[in-house]
Amino acid sequence: MWADPGGRRVSLLLRDVVVEGRLVDVRVSDGTIAAIGRPLDPAPGEEVVDGGRGALLPGLHDHHIHLVALAAAERAPFVGPPAVNDGDQLTVALRRADTALGDGEWLGAIGYHESVSGPLDRWRLDALVETRPVRVQHRSGAEWVLNSRALAAVGLDGGEHSDRPGVERDEAGRVTGRLRGLDRWLGDRMPPAPAPDLAAVGRRLSRYGVTGVTDATPVMSLDDLGPVAAAATRGDLPQRITVTGGPRLATAAPPAPLARGPVKLVVADYAQPAHADLVRWIGAAHEAGRPVAVHCVTRPGLALALAAWDEAGVLAGDRIEHGSVVPPDLRARVAAHGLVIVTQPGFVLERGDRYLAEVHPGDLPHLYPCRSLIEAGIPVGGSTDAPFGHPDPWRAIATAVERRTIDGAPLGVREAVAPERALALFLTSPDAPGGMLRRVTVGAPADLCLLDAPLSRVLEEPSSSHVALTLHEGVMGPRN
Ligand SMILES: [Zn+2]
Repeated sequence: MWADPGGRRVSLLLRDVVVEGRLVDVRVSDGTIAAIGRPLDPAPGEEVVDGGRGALLPGLHDHHIHLVALAAAERAPFVGPPAVNDGDQLTVALRRADTALGDGEWLGAIGYHESVSGPLDRWRLDALVETRPVRVQHRSGAEWVLNSRALAAVGLDGGEHSDRPGVERDEAGRVTGRLRGLDRWLGDRMPPAPAPDLAAVGRRLSRYGVTGVTDATPVMSLDDLGPVAAAATRGDLPQRITVTGGPRLATAAPPAPLARGPVKLVVADYAQPAHADLVRWIGAAHEAGRPVAVHCVTRPGLALALAAWDEAGVLAGDRIEHGSVVPPDLRARVAAHGLVIVTQPGFVLERGDRYLAEVHPGDLPHLYPCRSLIEAGIPVGGSTDAPFGHPDPWRAIATAVERRTIDGAPLGVREAVAPERALALFLTSPDAPGGMLRRVTVGAPADLCLLDAPLSRVLEEPSSSHVALTLHEGVMGPRN
């Protein structure tokens, strides 16, 4: 960290970086971009970073994420669909969680199902993570698989409790690690799930070049925002954070340093509000001077939301979260209302194979659209919806271009956009997703993402592996 003891940010010189096609040096001072030119001479005591002729971009903004849920998932990963769809993804999820934990901490995963990831026993788990106790809960909730260290820790591996009913053994009489109906017994012997680690989330997003996020959780109480505000104040979350909150918080101000975003309204199959309620919530948000962000993932859900907007009217900044199915007739109404859509291109990759199997064929061509929306003049912002999607926006960018599922099947290729356009989904400001691109200019906040190569090269195969350095208000995040 490059803050002096007084908390002021010392100045920093980024040498040989490419800004909008121009090779320049960039001076960052006191949290903002102080100068752009070439050459700039280092001031006495100034930190100099060699940019290696890599592209310097505004930091990425993820327009829809859930920070606390992501932090929880980081330490106790959900290893069922849609996060994990096969054995390889199970491996990745468990190993990733392993690296996020401290020495000796238990790794607990939930949501496992053998039909997705294959059969699991202590030996397979040992091969994945050997150095710490691991417990994996079956989707049913009533079965667990423990690795050898975990079995030893609870006294089940040749220990005093090995003969308990519910402890499975193979033909050779060995404890397999599969336990049934022992939740209460295990609960008394295993440590409780670890507290969510928001600092790990902050570091991870920083490594992706993310300098801002909009937390789209429809929290019902300001207390729910406390942990995020505290983590942001400590610097554990170095990103600029905009929060939504549900209709009950329409008139409330979030705790500093969180910025107030739109009011989040949920129109879901499991929570379909009445038309009158929706109209009332939209009206109340607008009265408080706030736009709304309406969760719409089905065709009827979008139609219901549009009917409510017909009656309540539209405020600049009103937006549709997901817009998972937008057929042409509804698209025209979205455009006519001037509504924004915040999409998750990454779902095409992560959930696409399931969509191809399960979504109504009539809806498939209109699934997670992007290009058709932009062509209709609808502002489109990009997001990951992590932890429900992978938190790496570069994966979403690559998928917005490729439109392929994990198994490689094309899905809605007519909705593909050019790589620059896909990147732009993440370069707009939190209050105008899909609006004007933020730029690297003198006077702008030094929220920056330095790549290790020219932009054209990176966009040939978009990947967060190209993020060399992220600056949060001029302060360096962890180096990649
Ligand atoms: Zn969400």
